[in-house]
Amino acid sequence: MTTVVTVTLYDGEQDDLDIAMRLIKEYEKLFDRNNKDSDVYKLNNNLTTTVSGDTAILLEKALSISEKSNGAFDISILPLVELWNITKATKPPKPEDIEAALTSVDFNNISINNNEIQLKNNCKIDLGGIAKGYIADKVKEHLKNAGVKNAVINLGGNIVVMGDNNGQGYSVGIQSPFKQMGELSARLTISDMTAVTSGIYERYFEYENEIYHHILDSKTGRPVNNELASVTIIAKESAIADGLSTACLVLGIDKSKQLLKQYDAEAVFLKKDGSLSTTDNLIIDNSDNIPEIKRR
Ligand code: ADP
Ligand code: MG
Repeated sequence: MTTVVTVTLYDGEQDDLDIAMRLIKEYEKLFDRNNKDSDVYKLNNNLTTTVSGDTAILLEKALSISEKSNGAFDISILPLVELWNITKATKPPKPEDIEAALTSVDFNNISINNNEIQLKNNCKIDLGGIAKGYIADKVKEHLKNAGVKNAVINLGGNIVVMGDNNGQGYSVGIQSPFKQMGELSARLTISDMTAVTSGIYERYFEYENEIYHHILDSKTGRPVNNELASVTIIAKESAIADGLSTACLVLGIDKSKQLLKQYDAEAVFLKKDGSLSTTDNLIIDNSDNIPEIKRR
């Protein structure tokens, strides 16, 4: 997943951990658009229309978020992701190439009928905005079935915590944008929850004093540019939180709050000016050096 993965068990067996790591690798392969054996590669290259149960379920979840977010989250974004090629590019693509890529970007081009998937109008998909969350959920499910009670699963910032850490909860940091890794803008304490952050500082390049990052607006075809530096979603299900964190970063604070009313999810918005804002059920406690986000 070109990111750091850690699974920490506070009880359970070495075996549980080994299986968790194996699961992560298997799922990563299944959803990797560059892996020729993956469902995603085969769909994108018209090599199949039938996918595994996991892929079908993940596509359903993705489409549902697309519908509710009015396309702010859109897995048909792949032509734009490839055009921008954020991790390798040194300058933005030509406007006419952006226009051309935009013509096939529309989640309505994707239809699902059980395990049968149809991609219309040359549509190609990228699950990068939701797969890590789904995999984290699967690892949690496996650990739970194995009897593990307390664990932290961290797939590149998609964090799932199991248990309540002896009643104290687990502390999750929200990274300060464009600062050294580990420098925090806020902290939150969660038990039996997931916290997923999408930020403009994670993958980007700079060109003529502008930042071009990896979360794209499916309407403009360009990296999102609004008041937000990052969004952290706190919820029960990591796949949903992952999709929502990407969607909310695109939507900005006001529209995100509207979207989140349809979910059992809270959000912490970190603005480019460094200020924090949250959904109504959270409060910011500024008594410490680093703001602490709590439930109301
Ligand atoms: P990260 O992968 O860094 O944790 P996200 O979960 O926000 O961050 O996912 C960003 C990835 O999702 C991008 O690298 C790209 O593959 C894909 N993506 C970019 N823009 C969108 C979008 N508007 N909707 C859905 N997926 C997107
Ligand atoms: Mg995401």
